[in-house]
Amino acid sequence: MYREISRKCKFCEDRTKKIDYKDVELLKRFLTDRGKILPRRFTANCAKHQREIAKAIEMAREMALLPYGAEFSI
Ligand SMILES: [Zn+2]
Repeated sequence: MYREISRKCKFCEDRTKKIDYKDVELLKRFLTDRGKILPRRFTANCAKHQREIAKAIEMAREMALLPYGAEFSI
């Protein structure tokens, strides 16, 4: 039925993996080198977890754990 089954969402596959805004190393994997969030077709995340990643990244930015996209005015 579903042809793209090989591109499964990591977080759905491994339930022990948690999305935490303090886990900067994890979040960085979903960012481009310019600090922008990668689109879903690159991350292979499902819509639900992509949203959670985006939310965690926003939180991390507010806590100054991650830089804001594009501009680096540090
Ligand atoms: Zn998922």
